[in-house]
Amino acid sequence: MGRFVLALDQGTTSSRALLFDADGAVAAVAQREFRQSFPHAGWVEHDAEEILASQVAVARQAVADAGCRAGEVAAVGITNQRETTVVWERSTGAPIHPAIVWQDRRTSGMVAELEAAGHGELFQQRTGLVLDAYFSATKLAWILDRVPDARARAAAGELAFGTIDSWLAFRLSGGAGGGSNGGALHITDATNASRTLLYDIHRGCWDQELLGLLDIPAALLPEVRDSSAVYGELTGLLDEPVPLAGIAGDQQAASVGQALFAPGLAKNTYGTGCFLLAHTGAEAARSANRLLTTVASQIAGRREYALEGSVFMGGAVVQWLRDGLGLIASAPEVEELAASVPDTGGVYLVPAFAGLGAPYWDQDARGTVTGLTRGSGRAHLARAALEAIACQVVDVVRAMERDLGAPLRELRVDGGAAANNLLLQLQADLLDLPVVRPVNLETTAWGAALLAGLAVGLWPDRSAAADLWRAERRFEPHMQAARRQALLAGWAEAVQRTRSRPAEPTTAASRR
Ligand code: ADP
Repeated sequence: MGRFVLALDQGTTSSRALLFDADGAVAAVAQREFRQSFPHAGWVEHDAEEILASQVAVARQAVADAGCRAGEVAAVGITNQRETTVVWERSTGAPIHPAIVWQDRRTSGMVAELEAAGHGELFQQRTGLVLDAYFSATKLAWILDRVPDARARAAAGELAFGTIDSWLAFRLSGGAGGGSNGGALHITDATNASRTLLYDIHRGCWDQELLGLLDIPAALLPEVRDSSAVYGELTGLLDEPVPLAGIAGDQQAASVGQALFAPGLAKNTYGTGCFLLAHTGAEAARSANRLLTTVASQIAGRREYALEGSVFMGGAVVQWLRDGLGLIASAPEVEELAASVPDTGGVYLVPAFAGLGAPYWDQDARGTVTGLTRGSGRAHLARAALEAIACQVVDVVRAMERDLGAPLRELRVDGGAAANNLLLQLQADLLDLPVVRPVNLETTAWGAALLAGLAVGLWPDRSAAADLWRAERRFEPHMQAARRQALLAGWAEAVQRTRSRPAEPTTAASRR
């Protein structure tokens, strides 16, 4: 059997490929960016063919760079930007419309109509999600509404829908007649299905009633499979066929890569935004605090669940200090500048530049800086920016703990800004929880590789995978309770000043 696992990490701005060896070490990485198009205000599209071509190119490059033959690749795993929607013709593999990206808001009117008709509760119950334009369902309905004959062709079985995982699997798997446009596999996994707003996460099937509300023919939909299984062969990826054996959405793959296999464990990715997932085991916890319930993974038919919350401005606050204010020349400089003062001197920065995400969900909130005095300087602002990232994460973690009815044990971290030691120490202090950074920060790609390697027997089981997870550094909380409480109270007050509506306690913020 081959010695390597190839992860295809298809993200929002770039396609990456990472080759891992059996010890989980990275043997090669290749990355290529692709075009983003913004045809109207609030619209975001990708060219699905360009995504495919870039993904194939980086896969070949990674394998070549590692000096490895296709035959040494034991399995391929896919992890992908979630919710992004593609519809294509089954016979030719050609998309009938540009991919509509998760960030695209064009269907917010459709969502408002469904909400006004009282359907929000049903979508929430079945899918664990809030009815929002972010997810795939209304994007798919929009394509069926706008492309001539699409709905009739879909009902006749001529068209296929998929998120990016399905799209790649379809086009890279051998065609029925040996054609180069694929078609042997029209599949997705339960984690990706759980982001469509059409999948019943409790029963584990597409929901006929929700499909009916949006007039989406079931004939379009991919088969929903485990996240780890030998699905079939990819004939169009390398110069020899390789087995496709793992699929998971990016945040779920990262939680597998962080070995979140037990309730009480959570991870946060500090990228542009922050993405938190708390594992809840076989129980799908229903949130009373406006978090999402989602499938964490499905292995051997066994679904496990997670609570998810996201913060819009994470590392991007540091980018704003650099590009918007010119306070620093590079992102890593923020750490030294912030560490040059012992505290912010009462300054709070609430980065509600694009509204506030979980648990507030206030899209009209706008950013503020409070507590400025004549003594405030750039270092105070830099420190306030790091505290703001950490305080937003505290708000989501506390909402998770209220939903779970128990405190988390530790927070595992990754993403670009997790390189910042001061940020992680502040995080541990403000959460009053250990924050743990792993050796392998490529958790998303590693999660996809693990799922694929498990399916082909490269590792015997998940505990072997968990054994490969190693802490690089553990940040223990040291802050005195009184100081922590004072900082968090100041933060809560600053947040209230950014709100577009009068204060409402977050526990009562659920519409349901
Ligand atoms: P994404 O995948 O969302 O593009 P990354 O995981 O690559 O994000 O992280 C990049 C983000 O992390 C940027 O917003 C950047 O400002 C921030 N960042 C990078 N290094 C640091 C650092 N040392 N301290 C704080 N923020 C950082």
